[in-house]
Amino acid sequence: MGLLKKDKKKKPVRMAGHGATSTKTSTARPQQILKTAPCTATCPSGNKIRMWLQAIAQREKLGMSEEEAFTKAWNIIVDTNPFPSMMGRICPHPCEDKCNRVVKEGGVAINVCERFIGDFGLEKKLPLLKLEEDAKSESVAVVGAGPAGLSFAYQMARRGYPVTVYEKTDKVGGMVFWGIPFYRQPEDVLTAEVQRIVDMGVTLKLGTEVGKDVSIDALKSEHKIIFVGIGAHKGRLMRVPGEEGPGVFTGVDYLHRVNNGEKVDVGKKVAVIGGGDTAIDAARAARRVGAEVTVLYRRTRTEMPAIDSEIEDAIKENVKVELLVAPVEVKRDGDTVTAITVQKMELGEPDSSGRRRPVPIEGSEYDVPVDCVIAAISQEPDATGLEALYDGPWVTAEDNGKVADGLFAGGDVVNLGLATIAIGQGRAAAEAAHAQLRGLDAAAGLPAPPIPKERIKAELEDVYPSSPAATAAHRPLEEWLTKPDDEIVLGIDKEQFLAEVGRCFSCGQCFGCERCWMYCTPGCFKKVEPIALGEPYYSMKLETCDGCNKCQDECPCGYMDMVG
Ligand SMILES: Cc1cc2nc3c(=O)[nH]c(=O)nc-3n(C[C@H](O)[C@H](O)[C@H](O)COP(=O)(O)OP(=O)(O)OC[C@H]3O[C@@H](n4cnc5c(N)ncnc54)[C@H](O)[C@@H]3O)c2cc1C
Repeated sequence: MGLLKKDKKKKPVRMAGHGATSTKTSTARPQQILKTAPCTATCPSGNKIRMWLQAIAQREKLGMSEEEAFTKAWNIIVDTNPFPSMMGRICPHPCEDKCNRVVKEGGVAINVCERFIGDFGLEKKLPLLKLEEDAKSESVAVVGAGPAGLSFAYQMARRGYPVTVYEKTDKVGGMVFWGIPFYRQPEDVLTAEVQRIVDMGVTLKLGTEVGKDVSIDALKSEHKIIFVGIGAHKGRLMRVPGEEGPGVFTGVDYLHRVNNGEKVDVGKKVAVIGGGDTAIDAARAARRVGAEVTVLYRRTRTEMPAIDSEIEDAIKENVKVELLVAPVEVKRDGDTVTAITVQKMELGEPDSSGRRRPVPIEGSEYDVPVDCVIAAISQEPDATGLEALYDGPWVTAEDNGKVADGLFAGGDVVNLGLATIAIGQGRAAAEAAHAQLRGLDAAAGLPAPPIPKERIKAELEDVYPSSPAATAAHRPLEEWLTKPDDEIVLGIDKEQFLAEVGRCFSCGQCFGCERCWMYCTPGCFKKVEPIALGEPYYSMKLETCDGCNKCQDECPCGYMDMVG
């Protein structure tokens, strides 16, 4: 190259005469176009991940102190997800798989960064802020205090609506509390993040089952909008002989009891049926009371839907995983479970889920001696008492959560999923309900266009220097079972965090690298001061542009487009 002199500490110098020999001119002119980064495009909550990472990465250029930048990042996160500490612990982070940095030396470790900022918010007691100050008169009811219901409640409360959340149990968080073990999701983190929503003025009625303690008629007469977020808490059995009776639990029932502090007798040997998060959480919970645990799954490891790192951690805890086997019968001696008979499987053609279908192998049955069976195969909503609201158990809703006029739904009650999906659906439904109540155009504010990955210049070492992704510290393995409720993953420290946010490519968003300015011979670019996050660092004088394309060619993050 030779034309360009760049020193990281000094202002880069644009060399006289550069570009003079360019023959690649056109009538097209540059435009600075903010694009949607793949992390955000993949995030079911619609979190503006690049924006908050860049708030910190660019803090000095933006004139923010570290604390101001962290606070700014926290506020960007909670715009779409009021639970950054929780999600920084349990989200399977599909965003990281799609991060453009994957091609270099691994995607940005977004999830641990989210946790860091979430914990900062808790430590600093940052409050959730109102979007609209004027108090609205239309009352809103939320059925279920899980991620979907609480996300809906938050989004409505910040727009000024009076919101009441009715929750059947005496705890908040839904399946995040009742399903996920505390060593993955500490209760104090969850309750502190929910408290912030309550602090916005949301009324929480715990121990109140809608359809039993509060009638549907009362709900309808008191509230203009109703959101159903009851989740799916009814575990499914395996439909095999012998499963009815003591010694057989569904995964969600077992975990519910454990998280409720009950001492559940599972005996010495436990079989857990299934390959999802519920199966792995149930298996690890049973290991924590000293049982020998075998997970029996009918497909292979590749098809297991559980979070991969959780499967690995379960194996480290000596949970055995037997693949390609399906339950056939639970054997008993009187009432006591003695074994589970399983049949070997092989994989056939893909089914509707896209995963290869397990096909039984004739005559391959064998017994696994056990004292207890935990069937963690699936669950469905329990809509008992809600018949006058909707025709259960599953709710059929439009993409924006609308079920009928004034009735919205989201989360597991619509489709079994993840907390991040529930949070995203709660927000989408709140935006639709708000638009309906205020007569707004719900389609306003379409997302920015996606940034094609070939526009990112990952190979530019001076712009994107190589650096490995951060890994979170873990509690020593020997303590995992002896301190059964203590959090295992301990997160990252500030130094790791700052290095990690610096790894973000800022795909599709200007981050002030100055290459457009450096390469522009006619001098079209003039520095904007002060700069604002997400806005261009330069204004352009297009009348002097000769259409050489250099600014687009040299922009490492794909922010600059030649148009025309
Ligand atoms: C064991 C397990 C592990 C999981 N691990 C993960 C994970 O690691 N990461 C992840 O992202 N997701 C995970 N999930 C999925 C995640 O927990 C759910 O997708 C999410 O909680 C769904 O949120 P929701 O608000 O729709 O429902 P829920 O969280 O189920 O909340 C529904 C709430 O409604 C209440 N309710 C029910 N009926 C009534 C009624 N009639 N009146 C009033 N209240 C009512 C319930 O008590 C509950 O509090 C896991 C799920 C399970 C079961």
